[in-house]
Amino acid sequence: MTRFEYAPAPESRSIVDIRSSYGLFIDGAFTDGTGGRKTVNPATEEVLAEVTEAGAAEVEAAVAAARRAYTNVWGPMRGAERAKYLYRIARIVQERARELAVLESIDNGKPIRESRDVDVPLVAAHFFYYAGWADKLKHAGFGHDPRPVGVAGQVIPWNFPLLMLAWKIAPALACGNTIVLKPAETTPLTALAFAEICQQADLPPGVVNIVTGGGETGRLLVEHPDVDKVAFTGSTEVGRAIAKSVAGTRKRVSLELGGKAANIVFDDAPIDQAVEGIVNGIFFNQGHVCCAGSRLLVQESVADELLESLKRRMAQLRVGDPLDKNTDVGAINSSAQLDRIRELSAAGDDEGAQRWSPPCELPERGFWFAPTIFTGVTQAHRIAREEIFGPVLSVLTFRTPAEAVEKANNTPYGLSAGVWTDKGSRILRIADQLRAGVVWANTFNKFDPSSPFGGYKESGYGREGGRHGLEAYLAH
Ligand code: NAP
Ligand code: MG
Repeated sequence: MTRFEYAPAPESRSIVDIRSSYGLFIDGAFTDGTGGRKTVNPATEEVLAEVTEAGAAEVEAAVAAARRAYTNVWGPMRGAERAKYLYRIARIVQERARELAVLESIDNGKPIRESRDVDVPLVAAHFFYYAGWADKLKHAGFGHDPRPVGVAGQVIPWNFPLLMLAWKIAPALACGNTIVLKPAETTPLTALAFAEICQQADLPPGVVNIVTGGGETGRLLVEHPDVDKVAFTGSTEVGRAIAKSVAGTRKRVSLELGGKAANIVFDDAPIDQAVEGIVNGIFFNQGHVCCAGSRLLVQESVADELLESLKRRMAQLRVGDPLDKNTDVGAINSSAQLDRIRELSAAGDDEGAQRWSPPCELPERGFWFAPTIFTGVTQAHRIAREEIFGPVLSVLTFRTPAEAVEKANNTPYGLSAGVWTDKGSRILRIADQLRAGVVWANTFNKFDPSSPFGGYKESGYGREGGRHGLEAYLAH
């Protein structure tokens, strides 16, 4: 049979204008860039820009600007007025959508199809959604006159840089808080583009401040005594350190940490649909997803059939240039993350699981890892317990619904889960027994600003999104 090759369909990068160096965004203006950190394109290892490493003095200036803006402007402003700014930001994000998508793909390594069709539209949707709440907070169920908390210190990871920024900033602004946000070291560029959007929207100076830098900058921010509310998304390890550092202070904190989600497929599930959901669950965004379906639990009687279909489907995945519109799986975000994925996969080999990847040619430069599944995994294996945060699926089997639930819940995490079955009653019964913040039924990795998201156990606490997401930013 003749196979037709795909012609490359690259998105142009000419729409983005990356400066060689960036300063910090404090009190409505950019400081002069003093360098300190380089951000690279993980698909090519090309250095994109130098960004400033914010130290104690810069964090101090940003928090002071946020405090002034809170006291003088944003805190006292009527909700209906704040809403106008949020709507304006949402519309500018839409206007600049293509540029933001290209910039995100270049800095992060994710396929343009995802940044263009998922991340950026959801960013705009979050601002639109929370704009709608700004003048209705009295009716949100948090008391008759809920007040903002004050200055929020927010620290976000590199897997969904602009979307995590939106999850943090939109509800905080809607509720009347001001913000100092630190993006991840490897993906600062869309946060800096967002700073420009704040200027474009005429947001009063100091309402949003962006400080770049590494983990130390994050620590300085969350430990700053004049921060009232800490919001963090990232690893459980850093989350734990943050929880310790704010313990005993008056600060409020919400933590969105790791996961090791079970995607449970029963024997009556439509296999082809389940395969699509499994692929989306673990290979979307190179598996750099805290709620990724990284443990497949498949009922033993259909395991062979399902794995055969899954392998056939995986052989169709196109791995490569993130800016090519045909690409399904892009680059791993950093060499450090690639090392971690390699190390945990090697542990899978050592512990006796069987590794399989489709034949695929990986580019020579950049950070790449082929889509991979491990079969013959037991619950004791590291690859069944630890978050790999890469395109690696661990496959386990079960015989009865009770065994599926027990295995699914046998994890220190509890962020998300998936259930695949033809029976509605079974979906409800199983979902009820799963200790996971989000349970998807016959789908996976679906997000909507109106839907709350968050974890149990070591996946953190607090909810983001929806009406629930307002609570973290309201004193009531
Ligand atoms: P991380 O270290 O927790 O980084 C998350 C954010 O926290 C980044 O902005 C980071 O800055 C900052 N940070 C680091 N140390 C800090 C400290 N002591 N105080 C305050 N902020 C601090 O995560 P990572 O190293 O990027 O990834 C490690 C693992 O975390 C991954 O393999 C994955 O398992 C998990 N992870 C989970 C999520 C999630 O969505 N739940 C997201 C990312 C990673 P720098 O980037 O500048 O270091
Ligand atoms: Mg980068």
